[in-house]
Amino acid sequence: MDRAEQRITVYASSSNALADSYYSAAARLGTVLGKAGVDVVYGGGGVGLMRAMADKALEAGAHVHGVIPGFLNTVEHGHKNLSRLEVVENMRERKHRMLVDSDAVVSLPGGSGTFEEVFEVLTLKRLGDYLGPVILVNTNNYFDRLVGFLEHAVSERFMSESHLEMWSVVEEPEQVFEAMDSATRWSSEARKYAAVR
Ligand code: AMP
Repeated sequence: MDRAEQRITVYASSSNALADSYYSAAARLGTVLGKAGVDVVYGGGGVGLMRAMADKALEAGAHVHGVIPGFLNTVEHGHKNLSRLEVVENMRERKHRMLVDSDAVVSLPGGSGTFEEVFEVLTLKRLGDYLGPVILVNTNNYFDRLVGFLEHAVSERFMSESHLEMWSVVEEPEQVFEAMDSATRWSSEARKYAAVR
């Protein structure tokens, strides 16, 4: 598929209290996505890594679609200058809408909200309900322990070796497209291997 026709879902922290290196990596991701001309969909916040990414993606010319629950619009300062800000009923609908027509997921570091989003998409992928690449941007090695825990789940046989192919880790935002292109192709057949035997 032509890069410019792709729709990329981005998960990212809402925190305004991180080390600068996290914001600069988020901003670089925004620039990379914007320059590639993809459509970006994210949680719609005007705070944290979400904002850092969205501002640069917009600046570089991306269409940026935010999806925010009405009650969070004040807490997360719904971003005012997006190409589209969709206000939804609740968190579930947000997560769902962020994955509609999504070709790939890129996750920047984050807290419980980001973890939930990452685990949801990996769970859907394991069941063959989401087929796109899932890329973790490992700024400051933030995701090492999360990936280590997933690997532990595989070594204890809660998941299988093939599930290790569900995500890719990149150290720099500039590597996301290369990681998408080299990600293991996935199909709805995955559901046959969802349970470990
Ligand atoms: P965090 O990584 O905890 O800063 O959260 C990142 C984003 O995920 C924020 O926009 C949160 O509001 C959002 N979030 C947290 N919990 C959920 C949820 N259950 N469903 C959808 N989004 C969520």
